Amino acid sequence: MFRTWRIGRIFGVPTELHWSFLLVPAAILVYAYQPGIGLRWTQVQWWTGITVLLFLFVLIHELGHALTARARGVRAEKIILFPLGGGALIPDEPERTFDQVLIYFAGPLANILLALLTLPVLLWQPNGIYLLRFYLNPFGNLVVVPTLTEQLLGITLAVNAILALGNLLPAYPLDGGRILRALLKKPLGERVATVITTLLGITIGAGLVGLSFSIEDPLLGLSALFIVSFSAIELNRGWQRRRLSRATLADVLRTPLRERIYATDRVYRARAVFAGTDAKVLPVYDNWNQLSGFVEREVLLREADREHPVEYYYEAEFITATEEDNLLDLTERIVDADVYGAAVYAGGQVVGFVLTEDVILHLDQSRRRFYKRFTSRAAP
Ligand SMILES: [Zn+2]
Repeated sequence: MFRTWRIGRIFGVPTELHWSFLLVPAAILVYAYQPGIGLRWTQVQWWTGITVLLFLFVLIHELGHALTARARGVRAEKIILFPLGGGALIPDEPERTFDQVLIYFAGPLANILLALLTLPVLLWQPNGIYLLRFYLNPFGNLVVVPTLTEQLLGITLAVNAILALGNLLPAYPLDGGRILRALLKKPLGERVATVITTLLGITIGAGLVGLSFSIEDPLLGLSALFIVSFSAIELNRGWQRRRLSRATLADVLRTPLRERIYATDRVYRARAVFAGTDAKVLPVYDNWNQLSGFVEREVLLREADREHPVEYYYEAEFITATEEDNLLDLTERIVDADVYGAAVYAGGQVVGFVLTEDVILHLDQSRRRFYKRFTSRAAP
């Protein structure tokens, strides 16, 4: 899904193409094919040209973000280009609000500058004023026949205006939404700022989905769905972080079972231990009774040969924590390390485990409690 190809470094920023670019030639051929007539080569050339232009304008937009980030002292890891958009990966935000706003605004600004450069050249054409009116109003009629140069100028102006204005909508995850969040963060706090901008993202995105139906524009619909889902994911992530920051390790701590699974045990014995618990994951010990990793019930039930030792099937990786650790930080460490969970130590002894599955379960339960409280309050 995330397969990309490196096309090179542009102004020193590694730039990659997403695999979905492979669909572009196919889409152009479908667009240019007319039953009864066959493939219209002028259409193929036209849409190829348009795609290359769109690609360039998006690239310039992303370079705006990436180069400004670098100028403000933060690293731009790479630029990824999709057929209909792109993204500049900037892993660490700068400290100052001003710098954050500058970086998010630099993308749309690059398109605004390009549009402003095109404007006088377009107006300088013999039918300039008609062309301008037509290209700024997609529902208008053009009374003159434009030359190829005039068409390219008009499209450059229109596309860059759309890229700039569209991205400045105050909806997460668009640049405008990120600017708004950066501005709200200081006075309202990060959480409220995220809630506001993601709710705006869901509302504006849903509005654009509706608009895409009425003007029959599937590409707008697709982009709008992206806005809605990105906002919903970010909103949910914020909610989860809040829940986890309020919980303690004790809420999810699993105390060790009396019966232990050893790495040298046969699989059938480990299966018997699992049969006596509801745990999906259990710790595995070495022969010196030291914790050595975790094994998953599913793996032992489905894939494992019952006569093999458990050591063929368990993951010899875990992280350690103390009882004073914060659950949100610990969960982030578990996710970053990509392990089943953490062993919690107190006084040199393992007192329990925090497993990803239990954290998810805890979030599910508090979500259910939340909805229950909400619905019982709303009832008459
Ligand atoms: Zn942008």
